[in-house]
Amino acid sequence: MTEQELRLDGNAAAGLLQEIFVHEVTAARGACAACGSVGPMGAQHLYMSPRSPGAVLRCSACEGVLMVIVRAGGRFRLGLQGLVWIEMQDVDATS
Ligand SMILES: [Zn+2]
Repeated sequence: MTEQELRLDGNAAAGLLQEIFVHEVTAARGACAACGSVGPMGAQHLYMSPRSPGAVLRCSACEGVLMVIVRAGGRFRLGLQGLVWIEMQDVDATS
């Protein structure tokens, strides 16, 4: 099978992405791109103002920006520029 035959349209990831984005993300662990610290999202530092359209989540170890969330114009925009990875529990795992 060629690489081109294995490649699917991005819409084929819909089911997988739907499983991931229904989880409680504050319990998810993430790795800071700036310092490598690993910890739960809920233990990081959140900066937001009640009147602002967004929020910034910063690393509790180095204050590097982990995540930027903007809610405006009927949309959410999520920037994960400061995370190397984010890990959530797979509730369907049988192990
Ligand atoms: Zn950090």
